[in-house]
Amino acid sequence: MDFKFGIEDEGFREEIRAFCRAELPADWGLAAYNDREDTPKELGEAVRAFQRKLSVKGWLTLAWPKEHGGLGAGPMQQLVYNEEMSALRAPGFGGMGVAMVGPTLMLHGTDEQRAKFLGPISRGELSWCQGFSEPGSGSDLASLQTKAVQDGDDFVVNGQKIWTSGAHKADYCILLARTDPDAPKHKGISYFLLDMKSPGITITPLTNMLGSDAFNQMFMDNVRIPRANLVGELNRGWYVATTTLDFERSGIQRIVFAETLLDDLIAYARASGLMAKAPVRNKLAELKIEFAVGRLLSYRIAWMQGQGLVPNAEASVGKLFSTELQSRFAVTALSLLGSGGMLTRDSARVPADGRFSSYYLAAVSYTIAAGTSEVQRNIIAQRGLGLPRD
Ligand SMILES: Cc1cc2nc3c(=O)[nH]c(=O)nc-3n(C[C@H](O)[C@H](O)[C@H](O)COP(=O)(O)OP(=O)(O)OC[C@H]3O[C@@H](n4cnc5c(N)ncnc54)[C@H](O)[C@@H]3O)c2cc1C
Repeated sequence: MDFKFGIEDEGFREEIRAFCRAELPADWGLAAYNDREDTPKELGEAVRAFQRKLSVKGWLTLAWPKEHGGLGAGPMQQLVYNEEMSALRAPGFGGMGVAMVGPTLMLHGTDEQRAKFLGPISRGELSWCQGFSEPGSGSDLASLQTKAVQDGDDFVVNGQKIWTSGAHKADYCILLARTDPDAPKHKGISYFLLDMKSPGITITPLTNMLGSDAFNQMFMDNVRIPRANLVGELNRGWYVATTTLDFERSGIQRIVFAETLLDDLIAYARASGLMAKAPVRNKLAELKIEFAVGRLLSYRIAWMQGQGLVPNAEASVGKLFSTELQSRFAVTALSLLGSGGMLTRDSARVPADGRFSSYYLAAVSYTIAAGTSEVQRNIIAQRGLGLPRD
């Protein structure tokens, strides 16, 4: 079996590497490793400038169809792009707008919505957040209680969202709200594009274990959304949301970025003499193999997409395997560092600039966000293996 990529794909890899070497600050990789959930403010402008350059090259919307302003690249080329950008720890090369909202609007949006939003998304001009989860509705998302009631040409929204990443910086929110309280729970939800400047929205930050305000609570008090911002049919928003979630769960980035940290750990083990111990060598080798498996799972998903197949349970396998691997890796990294690994990145004595202790704290959320491991296992059991629900 030959796993090699084609000459064109390998040429594209080289082009990406050369571009990033020329356009990214030399120390970017160091600045970025610590906290990808919440890029430090002083680096925000560097990220935006880099994004503008990606947009000019068309790379931000590489796989968007040409009719929607993309380059029309196939899933394998998109995978190569994501793989290389993650390996270089490049910032802002994808994101919710280009990876989730744009493709959702292509499938379910109106011509007016596509005309209004796709251009600015493709230029990286709009930032987005996802208003799905509520205090009582996470895994059982369809039980959500935020209400939207039609009033003339608007909907009036009341309710609360939680864990809304980036809501404090977002221009728009993809919002799920109940529009028919009497219908079965999956059939009374609608999907909206909410302008975050609308009156009646209150955002309160939630500080995570790393000390960053990456996510929020979002309260909506009589917030008006024009009917023109309803995506898909009224009360059919659940099916639009599952499209968005399918786009969210696929992707090779998380595994490749974590592998760059594994390489850092290997370098640390060499420099510190830890590598002389056979159990350390074995553990690191085991992780390297597992990361290779993670990449292959992502290759399979991209290959399926290229064949016109819909990777559903396969996307869950990829999400489950890669996030649980990230947790195992984080535990191994910390145990190799010894007690120093428990210091935070602010401490002068923390080994390796605190990148592993920060990663350990961040990794806790990876098996929860975008659907917990248990939920992925349910999907694999039911849709992948055809097992009964109970
Ligand atoms: C870092 C981070 C960022 C996030 N960002 C966003 C965001 O931007 N927008 C947004 O809308 N949401 C966001 N979320 C929320 C995320 O989607 C939810 O946390 C997740 O879906 C789980 O929901 P929950 O927290 O309510 O847990 P619950 O659903 O209450 O689950 C609690 C536990 O029960 C288990 N469980 C629940 N149901 C089942 C079942 N049927 N079978 C087996 N086990 C089950 C779960 O696996 C979990 O272990 C974010 C979460 C995190 C951690």
